[in-house]
Amino acid sequence: MCFEQFAPGHDRGSAGGESRLFRTAYAEGSRYVPLLREARKQWRELEAESGVPLLTINSGLMIGSRGGDFLAGVRTSIEDHGIDHEVLDSDELQKRFPQHSIGDDEEAILDHESGYLRPELAVAIAAEEAERSGAKIHTHTPVRRLRRESDSIVVVTDEREYRFPRIIVTTGAWTNKLLPGLTPALNVQRLIMTWFPTRYPEQFRSNVFPIFVRRANGYDISGWPTLDGTSVKVCINYGWDHVADVDTVNRTVDDRLFAPISEAVTRFLPSLIPEPARVGVYFDGYTNDHHPFVGLLPADERIVVMGGFSGHGFKMASALGLAAAELIDQGKTRLPIDHLTPSRFSSTPTVEDQCPDRQPRQLQPAPTSRRF
Ligand SMILES: Cc1cc2nc3c(=O)[nH]c(=O)nc-3n(C[C@H](O)[C@H](O)[C@H](O)COP(=O)(O)OP(=O)(O)OC[C@H]3O[C@@H](n4cnc5c(N)ncnc54)[C@H](O)[C@@H]3O)c2cc1C
Repeated sequence: MCFEQFAPGHDRGSAGGESRLFRTAYAEGSRYVPLLREARKQWRELEAESGVPLLTINSGLMIGSRGGDFLAGVRTSIEDHGIDHEVLDSDELQKRFPQHSIGDDEEAILDHESGYLRPELAVAIAAEEAERSGAKIHTHTPVRRLRRESDSIVVVTDEREYRFPRIIVTTGAWTNKLLPGLTPALNVQRLIMTWFPTRYPEQFRSNVFPIFVRRANGYDISGWPTLDGTSVKVCINYGWDHVADVDTVNRTVDDRLFAPISEAVTRFLPSLIPEPARVGVYFDGYTNDHHPFVGLLPADERIVVMGGFSGHGFKMASALGLAAAELIDQGKTRLPIDHLTPSRFSSTPTVEDQCPDRQPRQLQPAPTSRRF
């Protein structure tokens, strides 16, 4: 049984905005690679079951400063796990991908196991397939509170209470509200996505324009091929901010934020028209170390908690769903997620007796990278 405050596939949380990077040569740590390969297998299974394409592998261009940390991390993942790739110096990069304007001090690794997912569709389809397999999803049903009792966890909705021996909590940017005693609390961030029109859509089609991440000279930019044939989504690490309450936050983006974003587009992707045609606001919860937590809650092992995806969680959702199912059934999982254990934080995450209106504690400074 599952409770969703809106309906699967909505775009009011983390998983909106039509596309998500699926990177495999992972700068955030080579230990993610087996998990990402499992995620790819699970996405493919979901596609096979549903008959709906969700994941496109069109390669990923990882652009960074020569000798910088970002490409060093990508390289380590490639070396540890034998990922099919090419290394491009700045001349070759400029020649093969003229859509980008490349500096002399930049180079790239083209990861042939990367691409992109369709997030709203993927969530909606996963929910449909789950229902087809017998799951019951209560849509438009916010969980107001969790109550721990000796023989069960009580899930409180507006209509009634439900009792379960074990539960999974995966409530994204709302996690601080449902688990107000979670320590450390998540740092919820508002992130902006921008779409820029192009008069040359053929240059940005998926077969000639790989997804990209460019981390160099203080910028953290990511982009996707055109999916609508008229615009290209580009995200730049600008204008995102800590959010106290995701339900009351202002979703309108101040026009003043666009000038630096447009400047960066003019500089790095000069064939796009640099005024955004579309803007979207989304949220994610960040942990102190920018790695998610997935596992049994030390304070109450009847609760599996998944959260703090820190701007890079969607790609692995299919594998982490399997991990959560194994954890709830068997108390352990065969998937390689030891590094994501909730107990790794210095102050052990706990769930104190519930007090829904308590403010989140231990908010951290804004992270310096969104890590898509
Ligand atoms: C702008 C942006 C770009 C990103 N780009 C990438 C990317 O390219 N690649 C990548 O891998 N990751 C990316 N991410 C990160 C990724 O999208 C998130 O990490 C991931 O979607 C988080 O999933 P989640 O399930 O924790 O949160 P969500 O997807 O928000 O899901 C949580 C769900 O819980 C429901 N819920 C919450 N509280 C309650 C309640 N009390 N009762 C009932 N239901 C409730 C919500 O309605 C929601 O449906 C990006 C994130 C953002 C914001």
